[in-house]
Amino acid sequence: MKALIYNGPRDVSVTEVPDPKIERPTDVLVKITSTNICGSDLHMYEGRTDFESGRIFGHENLGEVVEIGNGVDKIKVGDMVAMPFNIGCGHCHNCESSLTNYCFTMQPNEGMAGAAYGFADMGPYDGGQAEYLRVPYGDFNCLRLPEDAREKENDYVMLSDIFPTGWHAVEMSGLQPGDSIVIYGGGPVGLMAALSASLKSAATIMVVDRHPDRLRLAEEIGAIAIDDSKDDPAKEVLDRTDGLGADRGCECVGYQAHEPDGEEQPGITMNRLVQSVKFTGGIGSVGVFIPQDTGSPDELGKQGQIAFDYGLHWFKGQSLGNGQAPVKRYNRQLRALIHAGKAKPSWIVSHELPLAQAPDGYKRFDAREDGCTKIILKPGA
Ligand SMILES: [Zn+2]
Ligand SMILES: [Zn+2]
Repeated sequence: MKALIYNGPRDVSVTEVPDPKIERPTDVLVKITSTNICGSDLHMYEGRTDFESGRIFGHENLGEVVEIGNGVDKIKVGDMVAMPFNIGCGHCHNCESSLTNYCFTMQPNEGMAGAAYGFADMGPYDGGQAEYLRVPYGDFNCLRLPEDAREKENDYVMLSDIFPTGWHAVEMSGLQPGDSIVIYGGGPVGLMAALSASLKSAATIMVVDRHPDRLRLAEEIGAIAIDDSKDDPAKEVLDRTDGLGADRGCECVGYQAHEPDGEEQPGITMNRLVQSVKFTGGIGSVGVFIPQDTGSPDELGKQGQIAFDYGLHWFKGQSLGNGQAPVKRYNRQLRALIHAGKAKPSWIVSHELPLAQAPDGYKRFDAREDGCTKIILKPGA
């Protein structure tokens, strides 16, 4: 089959590789019809992780089941399914507690937890930016889609990561109906957090970014766009909340946060959240941070540390939730919202590309090219 292979920093190619096959009776093979390029793919693409060359990217996957192992009960050949980016076993302590983001079984490294398709440090599993994907524990890791799966494919594919991840950021912030919320980062995850806040009846939603295309998409769903290349965003939030700060905040940027002039400051978003969220407010952080970042321009960053304004955070009595989203905790409910026409996460999609054009897609998304807000690869096209 054809697959998108990582060769080295900013170097990917579509290459012929062996087809995946059923390796265990609980496996499912999926013919991928939609697979997204994600912002977290870019950290790996830029060479800012220890993702191994020769591996296949792609953790936001949807497709049609073409083969099942003889231990698979629920999933049938022909089902349209979306796969959470987390790979869970279904029977470890964490999976049984709905924490499939930190499965112990699927992560091969001692002392670590959590696995994903095509992801640095999250197990040996191939990604889905390819014609076929092997899904371990298929009954557990495939979400079956209803009869409008083909028609709403660009919506349902967001169930694999960014919609549940945005939802999780808002959930961890503790948002209640009528609250105000500020979301730092208007990339795909930040926009999904804004959509989620809207579905959860936030009264005021503010999205901070500097790219006009992203800010426009935020405004399209009723959020207030704050351009941090023009104004100090924390001051802007305080001005809009009677000087008190927003009730809730979300971090949807991650460790490669930078000033508009390009200077990287991994702690800048977290510190702005501390400033712009009220006393006793809540913060949900889902932007990627990593324990080591050898490519970081500063010494703290190399060790995965940030200069965090913990004093003010403590003084304000804020709560903070961190980490990757447990997709399976939310994906059924979010599927129902899409099916019922109450949520249309595909409004952020700017490009649908055949797999052959994936290298060009990476280049454009990595350059934050204007109007390139979310790319879906279509391996069947
Ligand atoms: Zn993703
Ligand atoms: Zn598990």
